[in-house]
Amino acid sequence: MIDETGRSITYLRLSVTDRCNCRCRYCMPAAGVKKVCHSEVMSLEEMAAVVEACARLGVTKVRITGGEPLARLGVERLVSLIHDIQGIQEVAMTTNATLLAPKAQALAEAGLDRVNVSLDSLDPQRYHAITRTGSLEDALDGLAAAREAGLGPIKVNAVLMGGVNEADIVPLAHLAKEGAASSVRFIELMPIGEAARWPQASFVPAERVLQELPELAFVGADGVSETFSAPGWAGTVGLIRPMSHKFCSACNRIRVTSDGMLKACLHSAREVPLRGLEPHQLVDAIAAEIARKPERHTMDAQHASQSTRSMNAIGG
Ligand code: SAM
Ligand code: SF4
Repeated sequence: MIDETGRSITYLRLSVTDRCNCRCRYCMPAAGVKKVCHSEVMSLEEMAAVVEACARLGVTKVRITGGEPLARLGVERLVSLIHDIQGIQEVAMTTNATLLAPKAQALAEAGLDRVNVSLDSLDPQRYHAITRTGSLEDALDGLAAAREAGLGPIKVNAVLMGGVNEADIVPLAHLAKEGAASSVRFIELMPIGEAARWPQASFVPAERVLQELPELAFVGADGVSETFSAPGWAGTVGLIRPMSHKFCSACNRIRVTSDGMLKACLHSAREVPLRGLEPHQLVDAIAAEIARKPERHTMDAQHASQSTRSMNAIGG
């Protein structure tokens, strides 16, 4: 479906839980999130019905996210339900990969096409300090298992944090140089959730990556990411700059949270409830919201996101 500004909406990010086995400092409080009862979270069947309605409106790609999607019981069955929906051409997942190694093969067999792995450091101590509970070894095992299971092309996503992981820029980028990932994308930290209270110095422009790796040359734009590479590199480096470059005019996505709220813009406070709707009502509600998708967000270095939810509840 085309929105009022002419953008074709083909991509749904579906959050299947707001819970996570990690506690990344920019994303979640140390104590985790308040436990909600089962009835407040959509069942796998409700989620599949939402995807079916989106597919009728032209969505072809679904990304399963969270919280940590692998912490949701039955996520393999959800992959299979979504895979079978007419019109869905790609089922992807964004994960911290620490729980992925034992599940990668089953996910691939259920119909998962590819994964994006969030990895902010290749230094074990720093990785643990950032995630508070995560083990770098588990994440790298997950990344390797994803490659073996054919869940590629695999993109690694790293959030840039001033004073925290600048020393990781080159080692992380080299995952793409050596082909361990098809692309390593550096994402500017956004002032949302926990990070809304972080000092200005934490917000590093993605330009910093190009200063560290001057051999990189621009090769093209890929949706929200600008792509760079260099002679002899197996893969690419991506820059995702929600802070220093607005890419709203290229935004083709909508989001649905695990409690069934539709968000047409990540940074807007507006949410529309989808639970309890009949299939035709679901299609109407989603279509109405796509039509009025905000033209752009208003977040910048001085203005925090207007979203009332943090990233673990939206899914990134
Ligand atoms: N747990 C999974 C993971 O980490 O990949 C999926 C959910 S996580 C919320 C999705 C993405 O959002 C991750 O890549 C994470 O780094 C990113 N993220 C969370 N908070 C962020 C922030 N304040 N600024 C930029 N990216 C953020
Ligand atoms: Fe969990 Fe992902 Fe948030 Fe880290 S970024 S706390 S892995 S949801």
